[in-house]
Amino acid sequence: AALVGRRMRRRRKWGRVLGVLREVEEGCETSVGRLKQVVDAMAVEMHAGLASEGGSKLRMLLTFVDNLPSGSEKGTYYALHVGGTYFRMLRVKLGGQRSSILAHDVERQLIPQHLMTSTTEALFDFVASSLKEFVEREESSSSFPLDRRRELGFTFSYPVKQTSVSSGILIKWTKGFAIKDMVGKEVVECLQQALTRKGLSMRVSALVNDTVGTLALGHYHDEDTVAAVIIGTGTNACYVERMDAIIKCQGILTSSGVMVVNMEWGNFWSSHLPRTSYDIDLDAESPNPNEQGFEKMISGMYLGDIVRRVLLRMSQESDILGPISPTLLKPFILSTRLVANMHEDDSLDLAEVAEILRDNLEIPDVPLKVRKLVVNVCDVVTRRAARLAAAAIVGILKKIGRDGSGGITSGRSRSDIKMRRTAVAIEGSLYTNYSMFREYLNEAMVEILGEDVAEHVILNVMEDGSGIGASLLAASHASIDRDAVQ
Ligand code: BGC
Ligand code: MG
Repeated sequence: AALVGRRMRRRRKWGRVLGVLREVEEGCETSVGRLKQVVDAMAVEMHAGLASEGGSKLRMLLTFVDNLPSGSEKGTYYALHVGGTYFRMLRVKLGGQRSSILAHDVERQLIPQHLMTSTTEALFDFVASSLKEFVEREESSSSFPLDRRRELGFTFSYPVKQTSVSSGILIKWTKGFAIKDMVGKEVVECLQQALTRKGLSMRVSALVNDTVGTLALGHYHDEDTVAAVIIGTGTNACYVERMDAIIKCQGILTSSGVMVVNMEWGNFWSSHLPRTSYDIDLDAESPNPNEQGFEKMISGMYLGDIVRRVLLRMSQESDILGPISPTLLKPFILSTRLVANMHEDDSLDLAEVAEILRDNLEIPDVPLKVRKLVVNVCDVVTRRAARLAAAAIVGILKKIGRDGSGGITSGRSRSDIKMRRTAVAIEGSLYTNYSMFREYLNEAMVEILGEDVAEHVILNVMEDGSGIGASLLAASHASIDRDAVQ
């Protein structure tokens, strides 16, 4: 009788845990039908954001980049990329022909946690001294000498209201940064003042979002590139838009008739997004509630924490993870990198899953069945993220008429579709380092577009695109009047 009782209790315990899993699966549902609704919502919001300032949660920011690098850029340029987790310093030698990056040096530094919530001066002084040391190292030892005065492309991966291609003010922080005194300030001035304080002479010839840098490099290598996407600590996209479609800025003319638009899609929202109670709690407890809703379902800063929240819930429902680990209660303790490692553990006994649970979450050794459950949670959360990112990309293609839907009427059957080759540059750790994420994203692109169309859409990975691309833009804006477009 005791044995039967124990078995019953165990079954009930599993029933509750599987109930939690089923609920998460249902909450994260991303059928093709639903993804297509997200595609449509994205295209609609893009229109609204272009129509008027504040017309949508999608800011659709002007970048004043109206020409992408042509290949004629030549000489040695610097770039500085302040991102969500790292900042990178680059020195790039351009050869004067398409795809001719003759040499490039990169140094990467982790941004110290305390600087993310310090003051503008503290952050930029740190960046400026590092850059000064980098420049000195490079110029005393590099194999490629500087052939002109120092010009810098500055990649700043936060929403900026640009006033020209080399100036703009910070709208708000994202990705865990919270330096209050900087919101509303001229970004380039902050950097320039710090460079002066440190005694480094350098001209900032381009201020760009990381997506724009990635687009520039993407286009340099592949002229069919029309958009760029970042899925890293945060997420965002930019694309090339016709000036006449940017209704909110009538009066601005560009010689090319186009301009790159920084969508800031991390802030996208739609009632069609599959949202769970875990997302709602994460948002409420985040430093920026009601902001960056899409980013919080997709990017590296958040996926680990969604998984942690589900595991915590399971642990509260039963003792399959042992007594509730106090570590599991700590926000952001489980990084997305660890989620990827657990998800991609291909050992038969899921040894790595057990190890990560033990070392990082203080969850004692659990049986295989429980390890599999944990992998399942990672899978559900990552799959939703990747599929939503795919839908968002197709949303852009739809907006610019590259999703194949226009072509169907001209042909008699699906196979008659005439689709122009369309390339999208993509960067960020989720797509490049997390193969399950990448596979799910690619798979969803085909499901949404259909094979005939998807065949013509190419995703090009641009390593260090945001930095190298900024140096390209620094080069193409080095000699022209920085206030030419107004
Ligand atoms: C920022 C964007 C940036 C993206 C990717 C987001 O949090 O708002 O400006 O492009 O992260 O780094
Ligand atoms: Mg980043």
